[in-house]
Parts: sequence; C-alpha cells; structure tokens
Amino acid sequence: MPTLLTRSTLPVPPARSAFTPAVTPAEGAGVQVLPAGPRVIGADVPVPVRDGRHVPYANLDYAASAPCLEAVHEAVTRALPYYSSVHRGAGYASQVTTGAYEEARETVRSFVGAWRRSAVVFTRNTTDAMNLLAHAVPAGTSVVVFETEHHASLLPWRRAVRLPAPATPAEAISAADRALRESPVGARLLVVTAASNVTGELWPIEELAQVARRNGARIAVDAAQLVPHRPIDMTALGLDYVAFSGHKLYAPFGAGVLAGRADWLRAAGPYLKGGGASASVGRTTRWAASAEQRHEAGSPNVLGVIALAAACETLSDAWDSLAAREEALVKRLRSGLAALPSVRELNLWGDRAPRVGIVSFVVDGWNARDVALTLSEEYGIGVRDGKFCAHPFVGHLLGRDDGDCTAGRDTAVRASLGIGTSEEHIDRLLTALAELAAR
Ligand code: PMP
Repeated sequence: MPTLLTRSTLPVPPARSAFTPAVTPAEGAGVQVLPAGPRVIGADVPVPVRDGRHVPYANLDYAASAPCLEAVHEAVTRALPYYSSVHRGAGYASQVTTGAYEEARETVRSFVGAWRRSAVVFTRNTTDAMNLLAHAVPAGTSVVVFETEHHASLLPWRRAVRLPAPATPAEAISAADRALRESPVGARLLVVTAASNVTGELWPIEELAQVARRNGARIAVDAAQLVPHRPIDMTALGLDYVAFSGHKLYAPFGAGVLAGRADWLRAAGPYLKGGGASASVGRTTRWAASAEQRHEAGSPNVLGVIALAAACETLSDAWDSLAAREEALVKRLRSGLAALPSVRELNLWGDRAPRVGIVSFVVDGWNARDVALTLSEEYGIGVRDGKFCAHPFVGHLLGRDDGDCTAGRDTAVRASLGIGTSEEHIDRLLTALAELAAR
C-alpha cells in the first residue's frame, strides 16, 4: 500500500495571491493595512452603494457567517485534486481523502481539548449537532436550558425546563444549580451557550460545568460564537459536549461538530439510517458501534471537514494576537456607540461583562431593518437585523417579557467582527449611525 498523503502533506497550491481577489481601492475609504496574521478572502471587496459608487465592503456580520480564511481556501484547493469518496474506495485518491478526513477529526479534537476517548462527530452545523445530541439523550433525561439560548440550543429537546434570563452570572449559576437539584432522578443535562450571539457576553461555563457535575448532570455547550474568538478546552473546563459550526469559524463549507462523551451517542439509534451507519445488513441490521460511524451515515462533507480543520489549525496558532486585536476593536465600537445618545446597546450583565466581538443595539426612532438597509445601501456596511434566532432573549432585552416577539416588531441591529475587520470599518459604522440619528 502506498504511503498515504494526508491533509498536511498534500502538495502546496500556487501562490497565495491567486486566492486573494484584487481589491480596487474605492472612493471614500483608504487602502486598508491589515495586521500580520491570518487573513480572510474578501476583506474590503468592492460593493455598490446607492449613488453609483463602489466602496470597500465593511463586513460587520461575522456572527452570521464569517468570511473564508485564506488558509482554509488553500487547504481546500490542496485537497481538491485528490477529492474522492471517504471510507468507501480502495483507490489512491479515496485513501488520501479518507486520511485527510480522519486527520481532521483529530485536529478538531485537539482544537476543543476533547478527551482522547470522546466522540468527534461531523455534522452540518451547530443546529444539526444539538439535534443529534437531543436525539441521543436517554429517554426521560431532564434537560435544563436558559431562555437566552439561540433557538438551535433552545428548541431540539423533547421536554426542557426553561430558566428565565439571569440578572447576573452568579444568578445563572445558582438558578442552574437549583433547577438541576430539583430535577427528577435520572439522566440530567444542562445546555448553555458559551458566548451569546446577541450580546457577545461570555457565560460562566466552567462554574456551570461544576454545578452540573455536583448535581450528577452533564453539560452541553453551544460554542458557535465562542470558538471563532477564543480557545476552548473541554477537558480543563469539564465540559461533556461542545457544538459549533464551520461557517462561523471562517470555513464556509457547511460542516459542524458535536464533540463529547461517546456513551449516549453509541447507545442511541443512528441519527440518519443508511450506508456508513450500518455494520452489517441482512434480515436484521447491526449498526456501527462507534459513535462517529453510527451518526455520520451517507457520504460526508469531506471538503467542509477539511476546511473546518484548517480553520482550527490557523486559529490555534494565532489566539494571542487575535484576542488582543479584537478587544481593541470591540472597545472602539462600544465606546463609539455609547457616545451616540440615540443608540442603546443591548446587554444582559451590564457594560463591563467580558464579551466577544458581537454587539447588538437599537437606534431611537429607527426600525432595525431600515437601519440595516440604509447602512448597506448608503455606506457599504453589512450588519444583521432581527431577533437573531433568539426570540425570547431579544424580547427580554427589549423589555417585552410578555413573550410577544412577533416577526417584524421589536428587533435590533447586530454588528459583529473578527479577522479582517479594520478600524475604518468600525469608524464608518459609527459615522453612519451618527448621520442616521441626525436625520
Ligand atoms: N448557536 C449560536 C450561539 C449561534 O449564534 C448560531 C447561529 N446564529 C447557532 C447556534 C446555529 O448555528 P447554525 O446556523 O450554523 O446551525
């Protein structure tokens, strides 16, 4: 058998500049000097604005989907000549592709600090990962979840105790403790986000993991908005499950991850039934014993997985510089917003709570949709508006605790940033908001 080329030993593609679209410096914004470190494709790509000009795009919508890292693009380009089936072929390309796929699993395991014997299951995204976990929890498991969760973590459970938005991190810990203690005897699961997709605030996941452990419960962490910004170590933090998406991690190729304890996953029936999940099929079917095989039926998204692993490697090598730069940008954004009297930032735990680069706000006298559209059409700025798939939480932050969060009403604007965001993008947003408020 030939020596297998793996993802890391595949030939290097042509010069990096081939992947970086030429950006025409457009009117109204200087040429951006990006700091050394990982780079994204499409930072400053020209976009049209209403008066017919093109301006460099100020992408402030990373929390929805982050742009593609150059390193991710390169990894996918390197893999493409060998692109073939996974776990199915004897041909050389198939062996290379299978090697790359399984190597990616180990990269992801080390990225999240998962225990050696944990399962690392590739899914489509975080929503898929949380639904897989909901499928695998033993019947009768008591699930405890905060109403502040993204719908991906709020909705998949057959039955869950929903805790109201806590006023402080300490209250989150005591509320979880109480709810778990009062849960019926049997399997228990606490589900919590690591970083809010609405406010960017960091949740006390280490303390919540301790509370879960004390109460004989497991903890599942929605890390979709944490891992693009901060490292996570499941073993050190005592986390049982972690879920995240590649497309928020600069790997926009449709893969996600559920990593965590293998026993429930191995005991559950396959999430999807079909080839790959079955060990043998005759009159009766014997399902694969490993959690990964059991829940990855069908041909997997191998390029998505290779992309995701390349993003994990790139970020792992750059955390210190990334976090420092992001903090400076978030400070610039938040102090600029605070200086605008007609803008109100939304947060659960006050101004000083630690957070990642996600900020939601409302503008007096303006509907969030109009703000977002005007920012796009007149300033070339991309932000998100709405309730960010966290209707109960946004309702709470906007003071609508009656649960009436009807579509189209009571929405907010969200600016989110990451690698490739520049000071100019932030300043353009602040200037635009000041001009909107003055209209
Ligand atoms: N959880 C959080 C905190 C999120 O921000 C998102 C995406 N907005 C999700 C889960 C769902 O991610 P996906 O759409 O990739 O499944």
